[in-house]
Amino acid sequence: MGVPTRADLASIPDYIIPGQPPGTILLNSNESSLPPLPSVVEAVTRAAAEGNRYPQWFSEDLVARLADELRVPESSLAIGCGSVSLCQQLVQAYCAAGDEVLCAWRSFEAYPVFARVAGVHARTVPLDAEHRHDLTAMADALSPATRVVFVCNPNNPTGTAVSAREVREFVERVPDDVLVVLDEAYREFVTDPDVLDGVLLTREHENVAVLRTFSKAYGLAGIRVGYCVGAPAVVSAVNKVAVPFAVGRPAQAAAIAALADTEGVGERCRTVAAERERVREALLRAGLRVPASQANFLWLALGYRSGDFAAFCARRGVVVRLFGNEGIRVTVGLRHENDVFLQAAEEFAAITL
Ligand code: PMP
Repeated sequence: MGVPTRADLASIPDYIIPGQPPGTILLNSNESSLPPLPSVVEAVTRAAAEGNRYPQWFSEDLVARLADELRVPESSLAIGCGSVSLCQQLVQAYCAAGDEVLCAWRSFEAYPVFARVAGVHARTVPLDAEHRHDLTAMADALSPATRVVFVCNPNNPTGTAVSAREVREFVERVPDDVLVVLDEAYREFVTDPDVLDGVLLTREHENVAVLRTFSKAYGLAGIRVGYCVGAPAVVSAVNKVAVPFAVGRPAQAAAIAALADTEGVGERCRTVAAERERVREALLRAGLRVPASQANFLWLALGYRSGDFAAFCARRGVVVRLFGNEGIRVTVGLRHENDVFLQAAEEFAAITL
């Protein structure tokens, strides 16, 4: 018999580890299909050459660069080992036993898991019929125990976004002692001008924090860097519960180098957004239900047919992400990758619809 873990550990669901079979088109993890720029790879190599020394504790150089880019004070930025780490740090810093985390469902699966790991209750509010956050129902669901609310905008896995007006009205209804976390992992792919840049809201409300990442638009998912923008008190709290030196020298250097080419990143994001619309229109023409997306992925509301669809795609060399009997999330990849996926989806629709 081994050493017993804490009693509730077995009941906490595992974070789903995406499969990466070789030789397949990977459209299951919302990554960039393009490798990092050569300048980023060079910066990582140079940083690795100094790997005998610990990295900067608070990623000070990256903070300075980001503060410049976002036009926020350095004291309002915390860097993490991916934004998923910052989600966990926020829950750890703001919640204790008996407290609650509130989030939509379906949304990013890490939120309820981190709540459970911290020993707090995760209250979930269903998305509306259009697969969007129902912010009115979420405001109604706030309880005296709620300490943190996650709003994923655009939402993973449905790609839907809520408008600036909806977010502002929601924040007005949230008490000042509850932290609203706007998870904007996919912000760079937003093309709808009605979707709020959450950073603006952090300047107006001390109880709003924004999470962003270098994993998606910047194509650095394997390098692990994300950031949190919020009031200095939020930043201090997040840093207090951080694993010391979690963001290594190569990761800090990669993010700084990636920020040097915001033009190139913007161009890549515009290409992804255009492909997103092309793929969605083709799927709609094939008779599939696909909500409008503001992210680098699409949600196919296939219900009980989702498993068959994922298997069908796999046989054609395309890996998509299956969400039980609810739907499929497919990342927008390069044009030729999307074409292979579309061919499979159109064939599937022709056989089954
Ligand atoms: N938030 C959302 C909504 C996500 O979808 C993801 C990645 N799947 C993350 C945060 C975490 O990204 P990372 O840790 O790579 O920055």
